[in-house]
This record gives sequence, C-alpha cells and structure tokens, in this order.
Amino acid sequence: MKSSERARIITGILREEYPDRKPLLDYRNPYELLIAVILSAQTTDAGVNKVTPPLFSNYPSPRDLSEALQVEVEEIIHSTGFFRVKAANIIKTARILADQYAGQVPGSMKELVALPGVGRKTANVILNHIFDEPAIIVDTHFIRVSNRLGFTDKKDPEQIERQLKAEIPEDIQSEFSMTVNLHGRKYCHPRKPECGSCPIKDYCPSVLL
Ligand code: SF4
Repeated sequence: MKSSERARIITGILREEYPDRKPLLDYRNPYELLIAVILSAQTTDAGVNKVTPPLFSNYPSPRDLSEALQVEVEEIIHSTGFFRVKAANIIKTARILADQYAGQVPGSMKELVALPGVGRKTANVILNHIFDEPAIIVDTHFIRVSNRLGFTDKKDPEQIERQLKAEIPEDIQSEFSMTVNLHGRKYCHPRKPECGSCPIKDYCPSVLL
C-alpha cells in the first residue's frame, strides 16, 4: 500500500478516535497563540495555559509586551522553564510584531522563523491554525509515532517535515499531524505503547502484541 493511502486510512481512523482536535494551548488571537507556542518549548501545554492568562492580562498587545520589563515577564513565566531566554525572546518578538508588522503576526515561513524563539514547528502551528495552510507539525510525539508507523526513519524534525510534506496528501496534512500527535499522548507512549487496544494497529509495522 502506498504511504499516501495508508496515511489517509490512518487519519480516517484517528479522526473518529479524536473528534475534538482543538489546539491544546489556550489563545484568543494570533499574537497570543504565537507567544504561547514559543513558551511551550520544553514544557507542557497545561503549564503554558497557567501562565498565559496573567501574561496577556498584563500585556494584551504586542506593543504592551514589547515595552515590558524583562524581570517582570520572567516572574510570570518562571514555571515554564528556560524563563530568561523565553522572556527575552517573547519581548523581542513582540517588538518586531509591533514595529514591523503593525501588531499583526506575519503569514510566511520565512518571516515567522526570523522571529526570536520561533522555529519551524512554531511557524507551522501558526501557518496552520491562523492562516489555514496545510502543515506537517513535528514535535517529540510526532517524531516517535511517525517512525513507529513507518512513515519515516529519520529523527531530525526538519527532515521529517520535508519527507512527509512530500508523501502525505496536502488535504490531510494538518489532520494527520494533529491526530498522530494526540495518538502519541494517548496510546503510543515512549516506553510502553498500548498496542493491544490501539485503533490503528492493523496499519502499524511496529505493533507489539
Ligand atoms: S500499534 Fe503500537 S506502536 Fe503502532 S501506533 Fe499503535 S500504539 Fe503505536
């Protein structure tokens, strides 16, 4: 079976398994999503969701955040880890949004990855959720599950993104990314995947029964 066909079947099954596929990060506008995704590096979405309400209450716009004192931002986001680097990055990014993009979030990969703290994963989340573009969003869950499913044997996020962009049909790329990610959280755990009850076990070359 071709990769594209298998991806379509797997996405169809996982679509039923995960009908509620909203992003796990809370946000009310593109600015808030961008900052939340930057903060989500090396921590959990739930952890980010705890700090973003006070952060955006104090700094509701990119201009507000761009003028913030770093030490005050650090205090709010402290629990997300790497708080000094993250605080510096979100203030600098907010300044660029305010000064160069009239407070808006830009809509191209090139512009997004030029922002401090923004890598391809963050950029793809923005392109997909805000600009409705097809995207392969690669995080640790996606790397693990896409390898086990045999869609790639690579570990480098950018290589996986490019490979799967070429293999997975555009119309299901976003759904495939999001459902595979959710599947990694629910069944396909790093140490003990729950293959026995996995709904896509018939299509997985790594099934352990
Ligand atoms: S069968 Fe096992 S290894 Fe394959 S996707 Fe399901 S949980 Fe992961």
